[in-house]
Amino acid sequence: MKLKDKQIAIIGGGPGGLTLAKLLQLQGAAVKVYERDINKYARVQGSPLDLHDESGLAALRKAGLMDAFKANFMPGADKSMIMDPAATVFFSDHEHKQEENFGDPHFRPEIDRGALRKILLESLAPDTVVWNSRFASMEQQDVGWLITLGDGSKVYADLVIAADGANSKLRPYLTDIKPFYSGIIMLEGVIYNATTTAPRISALLKGGKIMAFGKEQNLLLGQKAHDEIGFYASFKADADWINNNGPDYGNRASLLAWFKEKYSDWAPIWNELFEVTELPVIPRPIYCMPLDQSWPAKANLTMLGDAAHVMPPFAGEGVNMAMLDALELSECLASPHTTLQESIEAYETKMCQRAAAAAKESLDNGEMMHAADALDNMLAFFGSP
Ligand SMILES: Cc1cc2nc3c(=O)[nH]c(=O)nc-3n(C[C@H](O)[C@H](O)[C@H](O)COP(=O)(O)OP(=O)(O)OC[C@H]3O[C@@H](n4cnc5c(N)ncnc54)[C@H](O)[C@@H]3O)c2cc1C
Repeated sequence: MKLKDKQIAIIGGGPGGLTLAKLLQLQGAAVKVYERDINKYARVQGSPLDLHDESGLAALRKAGLMDAFKANFMPGADKSMIMDPAATVFFSDHEHKQEENFGDPHFRPEIDRGALRKILLESLAPDTVVWNSRFASMEQQDVGWLITLGDGSKVYADLVIAADGANSKLRPYLTDIKPFYSGIIMLEGVIYNATTTAPRISALLKGGKIMAFGKEQNLLLGQKAHDEIGFYASFKADADWINNNGPDYGNRASLLAWFKEKYSDWAPIWNELFEVTELPVIPRPIYCMPLDQSWPAKANLTMLGDAAHVMPPFAGEGVNMAMLDALELSECLASPHTTLQESIEAYETKMCQRAAAAAKESLDNGEMMHAADALDNMLAFFGSP
């Protein structure tokens, strides 16, 4: 086995890195995950994730974690409504969508990011994840790398996998290619105890998702675990908007004034989002990796997930691609017919092509969802009259 007696370091304990750690441990490999979060209780930001049968769920099946997934997903959270700025419902699948339909490729169950991390963590051998370990730099040593962590300590690994997300510090060791700005900014908010703090929005949401479309701007809401609601105000803006034209993200009065002006033709019910959201809200400029990227493969370093191919979230593919990367990389590394370098090259070639197709779909969806006629576009997309 190629990985016998090799020490593997995965940098980043997101869904991609942890899935890979689990799949490699099933092969008997020696794996450590270095994660900058202080411990396993660190709050995982972001909306729930819908896992797709052929990618995210396929990786969990291979990892033997489907029972754990079924015990932790959020039935009904994938039910969607499409609305206009007046909160008029134009499409809803609440009435006929089944809450559990595993095996149907169109069933995309939602899971809270924290719950997914917990499932993966609990499946790993004890002490696999080294918490509070921020990757700082690395230098070549022997056949592998000497990694320096944020506290100055050093660890050696024969094979390093960059799973450290969109702002990867390891990516430059493989390529200079950088992501481009998509022209869209999403302001992310979260509401705790939503049933009592945001009763009108909570009743509107009905435990599922809302996509409300105006002209070149929208609101995307989703039920999270523990009676939380996550939401995004998503709109087109110049790249420097965050620093020059945005509101004060930690100041409620400033945020509300900005929202009422920016979304001036939207019904008052949406104000509740900014009246009660936790502060600060987080501005997320949406980036995408070039679709034609490639780099010379190395025998001791590769990457997966957002580090390799960050893309806009408008096709719900990001986490699914990250987990499928983990599945395919683990399979390539297990092949008895190739060297380590050949395995990594085969993985990267396929991964770049697959991710480019998903990124193209995500960019196209982003344009459609932020067009002047976004509501009509989305109703046609969802097959509504
Ligand atoms: C606004 C928004 C909404 C999204 N919505 C969806 C969606 O609905 N569906 C979907 O599929 N995807 C969505 N995504 C994308 C999705 O979050 C990512 O594609 C997915 O999390 C990628 O997984 P990953 O494991 O590659 O990286 P990440 O989840 O980013 O994990 C990276 C890990 O590395 C750690 N790390 C970072 N730097 C270091 C360092 N220097 N040292 C050590 N550790 C480090 C981080 O703490 C983190 O734990 C969204 C993204 C955004 C921005």
